[in-house]
Amino acid sequence: MKLSFHGAAREVTGSCFLLESGNTKILIDCGLYQGGKGLSEENAKPFGFKPNEIDYVLLTHAHLDHCGRIPLLVKQGFKGKIITTSASRELAKLVMLDSAHVHEEEAKRNAKHLKRYSRDKKSKRYSASPIYSTLDVLNSLDYFGHNVVYEKSIKLSKNITATFFDAGHILGSASIFLEIKEGRSVKNILFSGDIGNKNKPIIRDPVPLPQADFVVMETTYGDRSHKSIEESVSELYLAINDTFKRGGNVYIPTFALERAQELLFFLREGVEQGKLARNMQVFLDSPMAISATEIYKHHPECYDEQSAKMFGQRKDPFALSNLSFTRDVAESIAINNIKSGAVVMAGSGMCTGGRICQHLKHNLWREECSVIFVSFATEGTLARKIIDGARTVYLYGEEIDVRAKVYTINGFSAHAGRDELLEWHKSIGKPETTFLVHGTPEAMASIASELKAKGNSVKIPGLHEDYDI
Ligand SMILES: [Zn+2]
Repeated sequence: MKLSFHGAAREVTGSCFLLESGNTKILIDCGLYQGGKGLSEENAKPFGFKPNEIDYVLLTHAHLDHCGRIPLLVKQGFKGKIITTSASRELAKLVMLDSAHVHEEEAKRNAKHLKRYSRDKKSKRYSASPIYSTLDVLNSLDYFGHNVVYEKSIKLSKNITATFFDAGHILGSASIFLEIKEGRSVKNILFSGDIGNKNKPIIRDPVPLPQADFVVMETTYGDRSHKSIEESVSELYLAINDTFKRGGNVYIPTFALERAQELLFFLREGVEQGKLARNMQVFLDSPMAISATEIYKHHPECYDEQSAKMFGQRKDPFALSNLSFTRDVAESIAINNIKSGAVVMAGSGMCTGGRICQHLKHNLWREECSVIFVSFATEGTLARKIIDGARTVYLYGEEIDVRAKVYTINGFSAHAGRDELLEWHKSIGKPETTFLVHGTPEAMASIASELKAKGNSVKIPGLHEDYDI
């Protein structure tokens, strides 16, 4: 059998791995490249295989860097089946539709630019057509096959069986275990997907996995450890209470998927435990986060014991008495009339656009307010500039003073930190080869040296590299 790497190879996004055995071709994830410049170009490059020859896409979870190139795959001729959990299927639909919208808007802006600067040579970089459209996403939904249930094996062919295990990363996330028979030999290969952080609310911890001959393992936080969730929640409550004492509001730039639901969960718990003010106003000011929260409510089969118990008692884990979901732009603008005692969660998490930028424009200069960063922010983003202590920032062409108090709380990650990654690897025995993916070169090097020191065979594949295994 042959294993090849067509994304997340020596980088963090674009997960896409191809396993070929006999006549069967299985893709594990088909994710979008994110976060760098020239993204459309990067994503529009050839896949490195023929989409019309792929029989299955097995999707580990619904983050964009794992599902975001599926519509492109379908557009380029894929006719196989996409298999994932019920929760991932529903979330992937939301994520891919949002992605198509982003690409369509970008193409519109590019079209304007091209019209204005048609003679500019650099304009060749701009494409006036999106890499895929809303229609392409709708078409790709036709290829989602039956949903899988955790730990219930399914047969992909006479010789290949797949089992999804709860990866504890986001709702519906999975590690995928494949058993492949070739002649008389049976080989197992495990794809980690993204490995979850332990003790997260709502969803379960990553479950124990069977031992595998080959492992494809993520290394996102391979060179970093997080603070504990408990510590981070205490910091969050402290920051909110301190801000309210100063007479301001709290603004939290937040990703729509997982982080927003997690924050709602902890805010409810804080109020119930008397650690946060009962009359605190909370706004979830992101249509996508609101939809994701609805989807979270549809999938109690993914809940941990605490949330399952609440569900059994018909108690909503995300309900706060003073919570407003603001889908409309007018409602979002109206939040600006509230000057104190409110927590406003809005996208985007890295402040690269979205409603949070409007809120920051109106409040970043108010010293009684706070901005709490609860997510990772890459270089060059507005979030990173504020975290790094910029005195002023530009928003909508205006220079805005940064006088609000800035907090960075790093323990809410959905990813396992370095210690948990090593523990995860230890729990799966001693594979013949471990392939490291989905990480920065530093993170991969750090995990690789630790694994090698323990006698493991480790490979760090480059893009489109293939291995006979
Ligand atoms: Zn993920």
